[in-house]
Amino acid sequence: MDQHPLLELHLRSLKLPAMLANFRRVAGEVADPVDYLTQLAALEVSKRHENGVRARIGAAHFPVIKTIESFDFSLQPQLPKAKFLELFDCTFVEQHRNVICIGPPGTGKTHCLLALGLAACTRGYRVLFLTAAELLMGLIAAKHEGQLDRKLRALERQDLLLIDELGYIPFEREATDLLFQVISRRYERQSVAISTNLAFTDWTNIFPDPMAATAVIDRLVHHGSVFEFAGESQRLKTRRRGKTANGGQD
Ligand code: ADP
Ligand code: MG
Repeated sequence: MDQHPLLELHLRSLKLPAMLANFRRVAGEVADPVDYLTQLAALEVSKRHENGVRARIGAAHFPVIKTIESFDFSLQPQLPKAKFLELFDCTFVEQHRNVICIGPPGTGKTHCLLALGLAACTRGYRVLFLTAAELLMGLIAAKHEGQLDRKLRALERQDLLLIDELGYIPFEREATDLLFQVISRRYERQSVAISTNLAFTDWTNIFPDPMAATAVIDRLVHHGSVFEFAGESQRLKTRRRGKTANGGQD
């Protein structure tokens, strides 16, 4: 009664592990054969979805996992909360729009970028997170190895490219050209979300040529939403709190 070697073989060769793991248990719970098959198939579908989310999160290279649920909006009162939360249904990815988070260090820009990336992975989008420095160093290395086209095509396969910390280091001309290529190839085709400590007016300081800065900003902002972060660094606050740990109250 408990042995179904042929069914097990078929489920294995069809790669249906959730059905394989559950067919006996569900048979004891559901009598109608169509309901039975429906329930087993649903288990397989949800297992596959779970595996897909896990694989996409792994491929995104998040340095840590952050969620929007753990983001304290009361620390960013100038942020339009409802509009910001709308991003998390990821229609902006579907519409190939961009997100730009601007503000001083420690105000939660990277946290929000990571949370956006996580939401996009959950909704089935391919995501890649990197710092601007990592992105540009990778592109320069690829260019010198004659692999630039391949690298650019790999980036194009990402539905959402998260570029963190744009503006922390000034760019050489070569890097600017490469950044421009990445942004203009994605323009109206895939989404970019970036975090930066620089106001747009200061972008000319990190680009060797003001025209290049303007060209990149134009493409990012044309179909993009800009969110301004402000206030004190949460990192400094945490450090201070650590030092006065027994003092208690903030
Ligand atoms: P930024 O990228 O703007 O420099 P981060 O996102 O790295 O800042 O934030 C620094 C630390 O403070 C992170 O651990 C982050 O999770 C936390 N943090 C910052 N702002 C908030 C907030 N509003 N709510 C919860 N955690 C926050
Ligand atoms: Mg950051």
